[in-house]
Amino acid sequence: MEKTLVIFKPSSIERGLVGQILTRFQQKGLIIAGLKMMQLDEAVLREHYAHLVDRPFFPWILDSMMASPVIVMCLMGRDAVKVVRLMTGATNGREALPGTVRGDFSLSGQENIVHASSSIEDAEVEIARFFNPGEVIEWMPKNRPFLYAPDEI
Ligand code: ADP
Repeated sequence: MEKTLVIFKPSSIERGLVGQILTRFQQKGLIIAGLKMMQLDEAVLREHYAHLVDRPFFPWILDSMMASPVIVMCLMGRDAVKVVRLMTGATNGREALPGTVRGDFSLSGQENIVHASSSIEDAEVEIARFFNPGEVIEWMPKNRPFLYAPDEI
């Protein structure tokens, strides 16, 4: 099944929002395939945000993402990448729609609570970046018939 990567950024860890946000993803029916806490360093952030390293605000991103440990999570589900991006909302919390994670919990373009993979290709690379082999588990909950039609899985 399709997988995507979510990072609970220091803005959600420090503000104690992880439980509420995780609950949203679980209520939607997304399945946790991997979950761990880790301290990010500059090397992995330069890789993860390679498209932004030349931007003037990149040093702020480094400080922001290393300000506390983060929680990385691999979620599974039909169209998981698209669904999680929709639930996450626009990059800037002030522009993200109410009902989205960023729209409900952020007033900032930088301190925007979670990262979510933006494409299936990025998700594959990002999951391999943050999880070691064996840390992501493919499994199926017993309530699958109540989550999907037979042709949706
Ligand atoms: P997204 O996280 O929505 O995929 P980007 O890949 O463009 O968006 O940006 C990565 C992260 O960099 C954002 O989530 C945000 O934390 C930070 N960021 C983006 N633009 C800015 C900005 N203008 N000023 C400060 N931080 C920014």
